[in-house]
This record gives sequence, structure tokens and C-alpha cells, in this order.
Amino acid sequence: MQENIKQLNTYIAESNYIVFFGGAGVSTESGIPDFRSKDGLYSQKYKYPPETILSREFFRSNASEFYEFYKNKMLFLDAKPNAAHLKLAELEKIGKLKAVITQNIDGLHQAAGSQNVFELHGSVHRNFCVNCKDSYNVSSIIASHDIPKCDCGGIVKPDVVLFGEQLNNNVISQSVQHIANADMLIIGGTSLGVYPAAGLIDYYDGDRLTLINKSVTHVDRRADLVVYGSIGEVLGGVRV
Ligand code: ZN
Repeated sequence: MQENIKQLNTYIAESNYIVFFGGAGVSTESGIPDFRSKDGLYSQKYKYPPETILSREFFRSNASEFYEFYKNKMLFLDAKPNAAHLKLAELEKIGKLKAVITQNIDGLHQAAGSQNVFELHGSVHRNFCVNCKDSYNVSSIIASHDIPKCDCGGIVKPDVVLFGEQLNNNVISQSVQHIANADMLIIGGTSLGVYPAAGLIDYYDGDRLTLINKSVTHVDRRADLVVYGSIGEVLGGVRV
């Protein structure tokens, strides 16, 4: 067995408060494109760049076009959890893993069985009326023509953090708390270039900071263990 895979298994065996922090790379292995990768959404050609369409301002001024893009390009409801999602759910079930913190909005961790999931950027599965706050599921968004509307007449908005919007303070503070309590922090599928990822890991105070990525990141030198590879293959291969 590769030395660093062996070390990963040892760390997990010795830890009782594992926290996982995941980025887009966790979802790409389930077939969901990475927003920020070269071949992801951001390099595709639209009338406006995706970061413009997915902004608070654009949603306010042009909800119809927002939803045309959103329904076509942001919803991947056929995607299934991969080996990484499943292993993390298993680690939670046996009491080793206490929290999953994710930048993804697809709900795949919950689909895999994870309970304690902190979604920094929200979820496509929650939607609410901007007027009366009534909630709607994602199927009603898909079924809607043009802009999804509430029974009260208000526009229904996905509970997804758009560009220009603040992250949820409650989600942030609970994430910070878990990271501060963790005896092992596993970071996977993210280059940690996107706010607030890099800042959050500063709260980790243990000596089992583990990175799993396909390529080098700027925090590799801070890590106690770096594993290069597919997150599904690496985590999926962990023995519990
Ligand atoms: Zn309403």
C-alpha cells in the first residue's frame, strides 16, 4: 500500500472528531461540473458570464434569464453520491466524523446519508418565497414556467448564496466550532482559493490536517498529510 494511504488510514483510526471540508471536486466525480475549473461552467459561452447571471443584482433585475440559466445549468438532480460521499456518511454513522462542511449546493452528502452537513453556499433543494418565506422544493422550481412564483404572488428564490450575497452566519459559526474541535481535518476537492475556505481552516488546531486533491494547492505545505488523487478513490478505499 502507498505510504500516504496507509497514513490516512492510521489518522482516521486514531481520530474521534473528524471534520471534512469539501469543494467542487467532490461533486465533479458525480458528474456535476466545477464552477471554476477551466472546462467548467465559467469558461462556457453565454450572453453573460455565469458569475454575472448568478449574482444578487442579476436575480433582482432579470429573474427570467436567471432562471433559464439556473434550471438548465445548475440543477443536476440525476447525480448520485459517489464513493467519497458514501464513506463520509459511513464515518459519521460509526461516530468518527462529526461534520461535513461543503461548498457544494447539490445535496449529495445528505443523499448519501450524512446528517450533520453545513452548506456554506446553500442548497438547490431549499427554495423560498421572497415575500412570505413559504418554502418550495426543487421539483416545483423545475415544473414552473419562466419565474417560479409563490401562491402569494412573490418570486421564489433558491436558498443558494449568489454572488454579492453574504454567507449564512449561523452556518459559518457552527463550521468554525466543528473545525476548532476537530482532531482530524480532511480537506478534499478544493484548491482553497475561494472565500471562506482558506480562512476557515485557520481554526484547526490539531496535527492531522489532511489534503486530498488531484493537484497541488497553496496550503499543501501546511498539511500533515497530502494525498494526490481522486477523492472518490482515496476516501472510498479507506477501511473503517
Ligand atoms: Zn409567498
